[in-house]
Amino acid sequence: MERRMSVVQVIPLGGVGEIGKNCTAVREGEDIVLIDCGLSFPDEDMMGVDIVIPDFTYLVENADKVRGVFLTHAHEDHVGGLPYLLKQIRVPVYCTEFTQALIRQKLEERLTRDRIDIRVFKPGDIIQAGKLSVEPVRVTHSIPENCSMAIRTSHGIVLFTGDFKFDFTPVDGKLANITRFGELGVEGVVALFSDSTNVDRTGWGPSESTVTEGLRAVFTSAPGRVLITTFASNIHRLQQAYDVAAETGRKVAVIGRRMEQNVDICERLGYLKVPKETRIRLDEVQNYPDDKLVIFTTGSQGEPMSALVQMSKGTYGRMQIKRGDTLAYSARPIPGNEGAIWRTINRLFEQGCRVVYDSPTPIHVSGHAYQEELKMMVNLTRPYY
Ligand SMILES: [Zn+2]
Repeated sequence: MERRMSVVQVIPLGGVGEIGKNCTAVREGEDIVLIDCGLSFPDEDMMGVDIVIPDFTYLVENADKVRGVFLTHAHEDHVGGLPYLLKQIRVPVYCTEFTQALIRQKLEERLTRDRIDIRVFKPGDIIQAGKLSVEPVRVTHSIPENCSMAIRTSHGIVLFTGDFKFDFTPVDGKLANITRFGELGVEGVVALFSDSTNVDRTGWGPSESTVTEGLRAVFTSAPGRVLITTFASNIHRLQQAYDVAAETGRKVAVIGRRMEQNVDICERLGYLKVPKETRIRLDEVQNYPDDKLVIFTTGSQGEPMSALVQMSKGTYGRMQIKRGDTLAYSARPIPGNEGAIWRTINRLFEQGCRVVYDSPTPIHVSGHAYQEELKMMVNLTRPYY
């Protein structure tokens, strides 16, 4: 009988040629592993649509073969589709402790507990998934505890970088495991699937820690309160804002449900180190002069129900914008959200709030690799494809 070589299939269910809903199945024989399970946000012409999720038909049809979902990191475009998948199939979810901390509550809000099976790994663990195995490798990005995934098949390693940049001065000091990428290259990477978000940007991207300087400039020059908005999961950004607030004698209050949740979880687990006596409750804000205050707020994407958007409309019950406020817009619009964001910023200007969004010392840097970093990944891992 003729012996057939087994085939490794890589099946993208989303995230290729678009930003968002990253979700890729890798199959060899009777085993399937899934890398990420994200959602994306609708374009402005998708009226009445709140979120977009991948088409899970293939996974539902092959549910008995899916050995696990492996999460590279906790961004919504990599994990946001999970509740919808887990409603349809039962499968263990593998991720870091940090990712687990951020997603568990969201899953429990939408699923019964018997459908949630989260297994925590550390970078460097090797997780058996049928005849395949998966090894998470630490890499840097705009959220803590980010991993690339090396899948061992009978043809060699299939490597997914996940979202990444090579940041040599990360805020938490946890460097990308460059040595390991080199070793995987020697072992044999048959195919590399790389983040390409910033493939059009030449050179090296700036380190996340350069943002401290920009925040310092805003915090010291602002005549009154500083409001800062960023992605609620950008813990390293919030850490820097905390540190600069303490350094400039300002207290920090946090508003917006997702921001409060994430800050609380990360403070408890030690991912956010809050300088002594810096955080205050929102109802304590009135006890301090305006130029001694910083407010972390949700709304960086112009989400209609977010604290920032409601404040810009004067409809937020817990706090109002006043003349002399400064908003540090420490984010970038996700494509599709530009209109909502600029309308929010315009309304803030109308109320006498200064908005800093494009300062000479940046208050935002990208979490994605520029051209030279992408070349470095290719050179380290030396993929066949
Ligand atoms: Zn990401």
